[in-house]
Amino acid sequence: MHLTVSGIILRVQPSGDSDRLCTILTDTHGVVYAVARGAKSMKNKNAAATAQFVYGHFELFRRKELYIIDESQPEELYAGLREDIVRLTVAQYICQLAKELVPQEQPAEEYLPLLRAALYYLSENTRPPLLVKAAAELRMMGLAGYMPDLVMCAGCGAYEHDVMFFLPDSAQIRCGNCGSGTGGSVRLCRGALAAMRHAVYSDLRRTFAFTLSDDSLAQMAQASEAFVLTRLDKNLTALAFLHTLLHMPSTKGETGI
Ligand SMILES: [Zn+2]
Repeated sequence: MHLTVSGIILRVQPSGDSDRLCTILTDTHGVVYAVARGAKSMKNKNAAATAQFVYGHFELFRRKELYIIDESQPEELYAGLREDIVRLTVAQYICQLAKELVPQEQPAEEYLPLLRAALYYLSENTRPPLLVKAAAELRMMGLAGYMPDLVMCAGCGAYEHDVMFFLPDSAQIRCGNCGSGTGGSVRLCRGALAAMRHAVYSDLRRTFAFTLSDDSLAQMAQASEAFVLTRLDKNLTALAFLHTLLHMPSTKGETGI
């Protein structure tokens, strides 16, 4: 079977002496695994387009369980990611999350522009890394069928309150009057909740189009990461490394108040 796809290289692993095994997020077939023969050599025709984070266009042939990359054309390299270890690690984490959340062999048109935007802002350093991380987490979880309900307090229906809590287990919010409920809830100021609503409900192209104070962003980042960790029972290595870089404790098991 022959395929022409656009996609982002989520992960590259060496395969044998000279090949690369690429995990690609494609527009029409979700996550696919594809071998680039001889691409370990920088002289190979597919070397440039089969590096991690590259967005490009690929001609694939199916061979049993794997695809073979026949031709490739890189379009965007996101070279700025290599300038900063935190931005690079957030990009790697978002790619790992996509690999876990995006289905295989199914159309994934909405994930691709989302990841391209995330990599662009991280590469250009025009959004804080934690903002890109939190918004990408919430949006990808929603696309994957884990849509949080951020519209109103699950107890009384209040839309706004000085203090709201996000409950990662139930993916709901509760106001200060109704209380945070069981452990694990994350306290949200008005700004943090507004930003989370934006990341989940705005037009996909505007997912990252907001600003936030450092304190509010820290709350949003804690809530969104806790939400991911309640749904994904995976050891995401880039996330653990990011915590060591930022000296952040894991949010798993923490309580709000
Ligand atoms: Zn309430």
